[in-house]
Amino acid sequence: MDTLFTWLIAGSVLGFFLLRYWLAHKQKESKAKATKERGALFSEGPRAQHPRVSLDACIGCGGCVSVCPEGDVLALIDGKATIINGHKCIGHGLCAEECPVGAITMVMAKPSSGADMPILSPEYETSVPNLFIVGELGGLALIKNAVNQGRDCVDTITARLKEQSSQPQSAWDIIIVGAGPAGISASLRAAQNGLRALTLERESVGGTVSKYPRQKLVMTSPIEFPLHGRFNKTTLSKEDLLAFWEKVMQRADLNIHTGEGVESVQKQPDGLFTVRTPKETYIAKAVVLALGRAGTPRKLGAKGEDMPHVLYRLIEADHYTNQHVLVVGGGDSAVEAAMGLAHQKGNTVTVSYRRGEFSRLKDRNAKRIAESVANGKVKVLFNSNPVEFRFGSVAIEVENQLMELPNDMVWIFAGGTPPSDFLKACGIQFGDTAAPPRHEESAQLSTR
Ligand SMILES: Cc1cc2nc3c(=O)[nH]c(=O)nc-3n(C[C@H](O)[C@H](O)[C@H](O)COP(=O)(O)OP(=O)(O)OC[C@H]3O[C@@H](n4cnc5c(N)ncnc54)[C@H](O)[C@@H]3O)c2cc1C
Repeated sequence: MDTLFTWLIAGSVLGFFLLRYWLAHKQKESKAKATKERGALFSEGPRAQHPRVSLDACIGCGGCVSVCPEGDVLALIDGKATIINGHKCIGHGLCAEECPVGAITMVMAKPSSGADMPILSPEYETSVPNLFIVGELGGLALIKNAVNQGRDCVDTITARLKEQSSQPQSAWDIIIVGAGPAGISASLRAAQNGLRALTLERESVGGTVSKYPRQKLVMTSPIEFPLHGRFNKTTLSKEDLLAFWEKVMQRADLNIHTGEGVESVQKQPDGLFTVRTPKETYIAKAVVLALGRAGTPRKLGAKGEDMPHVLYRLIEADHYTNQHVLVVGGGDSAVEAAMGLAHQKGNTVTVSYRRGEFSRLKDRNAKRIAESVANGKVKVLFNSNPVEFRFGSVAIEVENQLMELPNDMVWIFAGGTPPSDFLKACGIQFGDTAAPPRHEESAQLSTR
């Protein structure tokens, strides 16, 4: 009798915990379904690289869900890994590495989903033979991806050059356009491989990294860095990362022209490339485009947007105190800037966002901005659009009502216009990366 009673108690306790687990699981699943449906409603599917899950192969272990540093790109729905926040994927690829049955592959979004991506081969070659695209311009964000692609693409070019018996002395072996992480890595590998290489950068070395806010913590993965070997630091300040690159670059005798932007890249009938800048015209056997996707900041089209107090990038938040600030945008850059500015003495900070809620933020930023709003540090105007910037004030339409706010400084974070026109003018085709370019002559570099 006693034994039966003990079994009954144990069974009830176990049943209670199983029921709780099942209810929590169901609650999580219905939340994930709602997020997925809302994403579809707002067309917030993947914009660039993202996981593709083979539902037949997925065993529903959830390893991919928990390993993602961005939090909730994937969720388990009906026992299968499903994309619920595709737009949050920035290409870590850890889900694919974690999957024990190989059910996940990283793929690019189709242009129809807003990605506007050039077609690339697995070697990062465009539809124009010997014209390559590496780094974020090809669709994969993150420093580690940029460094890996810059390095590997130069190895492909080096192998092709070695196959050539006669080499023209007048042309550069390789011209690298852009000196962000991808361009630096490509330039160093070119030096390491003994190529005649020239790097052209329209601003200064460092790319997007040099424009991060001061002392921003950079997160990366261990990387094999040309001329240095394995770089194991995974969290460091922007300043430390730039200093590290500077040190490695000093070891190599690089030809880097800063302040020299490339205006056009044209393939000549002899197979060589003409690379034009406002200063000079260069000839190269292969060209690597490492332009990033930041492009030029997207404008709102509001009146007064060209005034000097309307800015598109914030590096030193602590330079701005006792100001009425307006931050326009609803992405991570906008809310990070708003919170940084709100911490400076005497600032009042308002965020204007055209949508009704923040839906694309990293979990950490979503929590922090909610706290800042709750404790009155930041005010958010959803469903709003600035109409006119003036000295001393800004006119904003909020829920179809026009209002005027006192204002000294404006930061706009509306994304950038990627250099798609530039790429199209180079002859590069855009489209679905499921069909990488095939060109017979791509294994040959011009020897003329
Ligand atoms: C706010 C923010 C925070 C981020 N934090 C992280 C992080 O913590 N960890 C991480 O891994 N990634 C992070 N990223 C992403 C990372 O910075 C990018 O993925 C990376 O910089 C891409 O490198 P890239 O070399 O492809 O392009 P970029 O770094 O954008 O470099 C492109 C370079 O090309 C130059 N260029 C463009 N056009 C021309 C032209 N016509 N002629 C000559 N030069 C040209 C540009 O001036 C620029 O220097 C962050 C991005 C942002 C915006």
